[in-house]
Amino acid sequence: MRLSKEVEVLPGSPNTLIYQGRAVVDLGGKNSSVDVNAELQLATHGHMDHIAGLLKNSKRKFIPKEDLWALSLMGRRVMTYGFSSKDSSLFTFDLIKDSISIEPGDSEVEVVKLPGHTPGHSGYILGDTLYAGDAFFGKKVLEGFVFPFYLDFWQAMESLEKLRDIAKGVNNLVISHGPIQEAKKMRELLEYNLEYGAKLVKWVKEEISTPSTAEQVVVRVMRRLGAKISPANVFLNEIVVKSILAQVGRAEVGDDGVIFVSN
Ligand SMILES: [Zn+2]
Repeated sequence: MRLSKEVEVLPGSPNTLIYQGRAVVDLGGKNSSVDVNAELQLATHGHMDHIAGLLKNSKRKFIPKEDLWALSLMGRRVMTYGFSSKDSSLFTFDLIKDSISIEPGDSEVEVVKLPGHTPGHSGYILGDTLYAGDAFFGKKVLEGFVFPFYLDFWQAMESLEKLRDIAKGVNNLVISHGPIQEAKKMRELLEYNLEYGAKLVKWVKEEISTPSTAEQVVVRVMRRLGAKISPANVFLNEIVVKSILAQVGRAEVGDDGVIFVSN
């Protein structure tokens, strides 16, 4: 889909941005095999589904330095699931088995730090377009996962506030997992994500009115919304819920492990 003379987006999950036919952001997922002759490959962060471009031949490759853990399979697992286990089939999200070697350097694009999803997660401004990666998500993605995957939920919310200001000054706003729409609609989606985040905090708080483990909170909130629950989903969401609980609850150790109670 062409957004302007200079900007094209290949729909996918992630959506891949191509700027002036020479700079590519977040080549991954089903777009991994697309052959674009890119001078510059940029990854917003180190997750497996965003970094296929770093395996391609191109003059320059860039990933935020805080996400250099992405260069090894173990690093990617630990930063996604919180742990790794060699040869386990649990890690269905591993799309790339290789290790990657890159030499991150400077680039002419403007890097916007948007931490939360990962430590180094960054957006890129190319001309009048801002590619915001996994700073926020489409409504269907939120419905499916229930919790947006943020390693630090609170930092992610701050990043969204920052993004809200920056988004006013661009003509195109693109995210990785969600619809490709005009900037006005995307700014509305950003607001929706902020409101949704506030709702999640409220639901998590309600669940610890009876003392509960983070895992119990995850399952109950997911059931409440009628979401499909798998062990892998619970692992992922538990990370986000722990990040939320660490600020809104008090942790105690009981027979079932760490129990959170209302502050
Ligand atoms: Zn990601």
